[in-house]
Amino acid sequence: MSMFQDIPVDVGVIYEGERIRRKDMFVELGGPDVKEKFELARVKKLEDVEDGKIVIIGLDIKDMEEGKTYPFGILIEVAGAKLEPELEGVIERRIHAYCNYIEGFMHLNQRYDIWLRLSKKSYQKGLNSFQYIGKVLHRLFKSELPIIEKMQVTFITDAEKVKELYPQALQIYEARDARARGLKDEEVDKFYGCILCQSFAPTHCCVITPQRYSNCGAISWFDARASANIDPKGPIFEIDRGELLDPEKGEYSGVNEAVKKRTLGEITRVWLYTAFGYPHTSCGCFEGVAFYIPEVDGFGIVHRGYKEVTVNGLAFSTLADSTAGGRQVDGFHGISVEYMRSPKFLQADGGYKRVVWMPKEVKERVKNFIPPELMDKIATEEDAKTIDELKAFLKKRNHPVVERWREEVVPVPEAVPAEAAEAQEEAAPAMVPTITAATLPITAGGYKIILKDAKIYAKRVIIRSVKSETEKR
Ligand code: SF4
Repeated sequence: MSMFQDIPVDVGVIYEGERIRRKDMFVELGGPDVKEKFELARVKKLEDVEDGKIVIIGLDIKDMEEGKTYPFGILIEVAGAKLEPELEGVIERRIHAYCNYIEGFMHLNQRYDIWLRLSKKSYQKGLNSFQYIGKVLHRLFKSELPIIEKMQVTFITDAEKVKELYPQALQIYEARDARARGLKDEEVDKFYGCILCQSFAPTHCCVITPQRYSNCGAISWFDARASANIDPKGPIFEIDRGELLDPEKGEYSGVNEAVKKRTLGEITRVWLYTAFGYPHTSCGCFEGVAFYIPEVDGFGIVHRGYKEVTVNGLAFSTLADSTAGGRQVDGFHGISVEYMRSPKFLQADGGYKRVVWMPKEVKERVKNFIPPELMDKIATEEDAKTIDELKAFLKKRNHPVVERWREEVVPVPEAVPAEAAEAQEEAAPAMVPTITAATLPITAGGYKIILKDAKIYAKRVIIRSVKSETEKR
């Protein structure tokens, strides 16, 4: 008998990667329209956890209004004689995968950024209570991680309760991240790889080192080590780092070999500390994007929660689209906020000396890690909203990139469209001058050029009637 006989929808790996569009959703939980949302795993004492208990604080699915968005929190409490608090991050990250196993239930992102949708179809099939989702999580966690002896799940949809628990969750994430700081890449023999996101981006493989936190910002080197120890056949695996081929760019022979193997030969080289050449791939779960701004020869940074357009006129969703999909795209680099606290952050590109713009919110979060002499030279949305304003700001504050303007001619990176970006395009503002078309025919000089699945960014579009042009001649 199937483990999920009593669940009204199918459960299986085949549903991972399933996208639910707004028009097909019954309800949305968390996501960009809700400020407070979180998922959290805690390791507790055996006597403090009631195995199989599922608690719902606030409305259950059947009491929700179709088409609406609700604040959301998931708290997973686990206990086991061999369970260490070090495993909390790893257990928490599996919530993403296991929720996605449920037919018609989509989970994106992590920690304080979660975004879930339930499809109308699955709701109509009877998936109308968090009790079912709790049961699936309980069974999957216990069967895949037998180290978990007891587990209880709490779903929170009550806005006040989510609001109350949200700052506590942020503190727990911060404490977890801080534990992992201090260790250097050169001091360890093993790095770790993660392919949990390959269902969304088949050629993506995260390389997690002490000084390069996972792109999703949810798995530190310590978390990865703990995960590989308890589940060596799981999605997180050990990488023998091998020979250090380039200390500046962060190229290791063992990393190249492991990534090549895990991406079936698609990615053959990885430079860990740069956004150019052979940068680390990006799946779609990254917390932020470092994007090259050729006009000033510097990097802008934007996080997932930023609602406005960035200084180059593009929104996070558009930049994410150019970054995601398990590709190596020059100048478009998926990052975690914790990586911005690493001394290796974009080391080969100049680190913070090359960063010119970021939202105020991100600057605040990483302020203790920005060299003090650069603090007031990096613009936020309050200092510059356009490239011209940015140029003036950088010049006035004498940002180190200004020196580069005199030195070199700047290469323009190529933006390649993403096949596997998240369902974020819905959030893209109408003002962004991006054209997407399945087939875009261009007729010129007697030839027809067809661009298939193209996405084109243009600074200005000029439409002239061919007739009037001919008449002029
Ligand atoms: S972003 Fe990377 S580390 Fe995080 S779950 Fe995905 S593959 Fe794993």
